[in-house]
Amino acid sequence: MAHHDEAGIGDFVLLDQINIDSFMENLQVRFNAGKIYTYIGEVCVSVNPYRTINIYGPDVVNQYKGREIFERPPHVFAIADAAYKAMKRRGQDTCIVISGESGSGKTEASKIIMRYIAAVTNVSQQAEIDRVKSVLIQSNSILEAFGNAKTNRNDNSSRFGKYMDINFDFKHDPVGGHISNYLLEKSRVVLQQPGERNFHAFYQLLYGAPDAELAKLRLVRDAGQYYYTSQGGNTRVDSISDRQDYKSVSAALRLLGFSSEKTDCIWRTIAAVLNLGNVEFDDNGETTTVSTPERLEAVGALLSVTPAELGKTLCHRVIAAGGEVMEKGHTGVQASYGRDAFAKAIYERLFTWIIQEVNSAIEVREESQRYRTKNTVIGVLDIYGFEIFNNNSFEQFCINYCNEKLQQLFIELVLRQEQEEYSREGIEWTNVDYFNNQIICDLVEQPHKGIIAIMDEACLNVGRITDEMLLEAMDKKLANHRHYSSRRLNPMDKELRHGEEFRIRHYAGDVSYNITGFLDKNKDMLYQDFKRLLYSSQNETLKSMWPEGAQHISKTTKRPLTAGTLFKNSMIALINNLASKQPHYVRCIKPNEEKSPVLFDRERVRHQVNYLGLIENVRVRRAGFAYRQSYDRFLRRYKMISQFTWPNFHGESDKEGVKILIKEQNFVDDVKYGKTKIFLRSPQTLFKLEQARGRLI
Ligand code: ADP
Ligand code: MG
Repeated sequence: MAHHDEAGIGDFVLLDQINIDSFMENLQVRFNAGKIYTYIGEVCVSVNPYRTINIYGPDVVNQYKGREIFERPPHVFAIADAAYKAMKRRGQDTCIVISGESGSGKTEASKIIMRYIAAVTNVSQQAEIDRVKSVLIQSNSILEAFGNAKTNRNDNSSRFGKYMDINFDFKHDPVGGHISNYLLEKSRVVLQQPGERNFHAFYQLLYGAPDAELAKLRLVRDAGQYYYTSQGGNTRVDSISDRQDYKSVSAALRLLGFSSEKTDCIWRTIAAVLNLGNVEFDDNGETTTVSTPERLEAVGALLSVTPAELGKTLCHRVIAAGGEVMEKGHTGVQASYGRDAFAKAIYERLFTWIIQEVNSAIEVREESQRYRTKNTVIGVLDIYGFEIFNNNSFEQFCINYCNEKLQQLFIELVLRQEQEEYSREGIEWTNVDYFNNQIICDLVEQPHKGIIAIMDEACLNVGRITDEMLLEAMDKKLANHRHYSSRRLNPMDKELRHGEEFRIRHYAGDVSYNITGFLDKNKDMLYQDFKRLLYSSQNETLKSMWPEGAQHISKTTKRPLTAGTLFKNSMIALINNLASKQPHYVRCIKPNEEKSPVLFDRERVRHQVNYLGLIENVRVRRAGFAYRQSYDRFLRRYKMISQFTWPNFHGESDKEGVKILIKEQNFVDDVKYGKTKIFLRSPQTLFKLEQARGRLI
């Protein structure tokens, strides 16, 4: 239904002409009028308003609750409700995939969706359901404290991928949940670009903890004093109150049932990382020693290990060769490298552990499990969008690969399956051209031939392999790939730095990656010594995060999987999981780079519309049918609205009954009859059928 009372058209499918200009025009008219949501069929396009709009209150929730998607103006609430209804009516697992680039509004959308689900459930007011709901919502502030940071694109940028399942009981009330996290950008712990910050938690502690607490943690109230929190320049962000956030996070930790020991351990660990960053070394050419003993002492105390052991671990490593165990001193460079690797690993383990703890607070309790007849789930995916920076490294490579996989899923589910079904049902159909990005997924993930496999092979090599040698190996193997290029292969390409960069032609655009650091980040090596050190910690909580430290040095350990392979495996598992559910999509768009509520940067938006494949999406949708149903189910649902089919149709087949009903109701022009299903072109027809049915039952 074109909502004439509002600016522009609420569904791109209903535009007179489908091309990029008309699409942009409609999007901009709506943005200027404060209408940030627009549909493409059941896909919701959302433009970040960069201001508070009063459209999420209880009155609005009630307008969407239980209604059909096309009854009300476009809203992300309607997507949440559609997912909820599909689960409720058909017992189907559903998921909501939220995509878009950094700062486009994904995380806000995921929180709006969760609050909506919380608002429309638990009519019977059970205390346990209320507990689960508040725990689910409160868990966000914890995840954001430890997983989000200020970047140049977004003051509250998620630096990890998040997939959250919400479990529902037979009454369709939320009884628990589960969070999976993907690839935390841990390099941020030790390295920040100008204008950016480390993870919020560091600043929350420094600017929020009481004086006595800070003293206990060997800290001073100034993030400028610590190497790990000061590289970006300004340690404060206008839009963030670290002090207030420290309070909210502490309250959330309490609500989720973190004991005081556990909460203590979290902040001690954060303090240890801060102090560790200020540990420095003296390398006299022969031996390396710690030149900041008071820091060493502080870190040791915070990690509950002796400073002597810690100092030794920072400056040496133990190696087992030919049955003999010996100590080998680090160079100053190795020691600094080890320190930073240690800091990143401590933080990453802490983050994973926090998520595990959050999960045990929200997972479905035994009691509710028992009376639960069926396990239905709504999954919400809020994962990093496509990233192109001035300097793109291993992290961007992983993130952009992730987006290729999500795009592939979108193509599979929305575009390809749609077209295949029409041909299977014998419905006349002109194919819509779209770019299938499978070839790019293959470039990255194919066994033996893909970039990840080539990286792993280089990491396996015991000799001195450099990043440049890796690049050369990639150039050799991928020379003929249409989506890969390097300066060596194209000497005329002045945009790439020779011997340093390669380029992938992504579905969303070309990205040049700097090879420097790829091997290191893929290997993700941490000297075993650090693992054993923390396993020996007197702090039981910390110790429990390092179980493999129990292993004796002389045992040869199996080589751990590389970061690239682990990421690939987690992506494949994620995609399989999403593909098993009925998907709903929210496609987020960032209107400008200035975080301005009034600026609609046409070039930036046009680019996003293009790479999100929104025009193709409209074309397929428009050429297609909004709704389809098998003849028997359709007849069973609507037979009461026709005198010819009520109470029963006695003709030859359900198909014939459906045809008679449609004819009587005057919908002939809007439908096509497939082999086994009826196809309705416009959602309004379905809406009218539902209304007619509603009047009679
Ligand atoms: P992403 O997760 O895509 O990187 P966020 O969801 O963190 O982006 O959004 C970035 C910022 O944009 C938010 O901190 C908020 O200020 C603003 N924003 C996003 N969505 C909305 C919205 N629906 N209403 C108001 N402001 C929003
Ligand atoms: Mg986010």
